[in-house]
Amino acid sequence: MTATYTRAQALAVRDRVMAHVGAIQIDKADPGLAGPALDGLHAFLSLVSTFTGKPVVPDEWRRHWSQTLGIVVAFATELSDEDVALVAAHEAVHVQQFKGLGLTGAPADGYTAAMWVVYLFSREGRARLEAEAYAIMLEIGVVLLGWDHARARGFITWVRDVALPNYALAVSERELVAAILDSQATALFSGTHHTSALGVLVVKWSREAGVGA
Ligand SMILES: [Zn+2]
Repeated sequence: MTATYTRAQALAVRDRVMAHVGAIQIDKADPGLAGPALDGLHAFLSLVSTFTGKPVVPDEWRRHWSQTLGIVVAFATELSDEDVALVAAHEAVHVQQFKGLGLTGAPADGYTAAMWVVYLFSREGRARLEAEAYAIMLEIGVVLLGWDHARARGFITWVRDVALPNYALAVSERELVAAILDSQATALFSGTHHTSALGVLVVKWSREAGVGA
């Protein structure tokens, strides 16, 4: 049996997960958001892109791609109902990574540099941080939404071939992310997986909102 989110359910889950990780939300579609604020965010990301080597295309960026900068999460304007919830979970993982690795370089998960340093200057580090964020989407898909093997495979292929080229990663690093997600999918379908703490909460809150009921 498959399930999905209504807009209202997804927004309710998004607000809960953002509050849980202590994030500040920006909606790029918010008409009350001043143009200069968005222009400033875009300018900052364009600066970031000089490190990652991937230019930020303004219109595409506003409509399709969400970002996390520290604890600030900016959501794209054209997300499907389901993606409103899944992308919120993805970005919440980045907020946790940022807080966990900190600004000053507290060691965590094998890294000894701050998250933003790892993200900007280590392509493999960026790949692993993104793998963790995409893994929660896969987890919600399989555990809550009833994705079968084909759907999970389709998601992993989309991450590798459509999403990851936006992160200025080499083919080998995109394959690394796909391999991490593949093993996550195998574990999820075997029923012996351990889910992430945040994934467990998102699934719980989604069920409370009526998803999959
Ligand atoms: Zn990400």
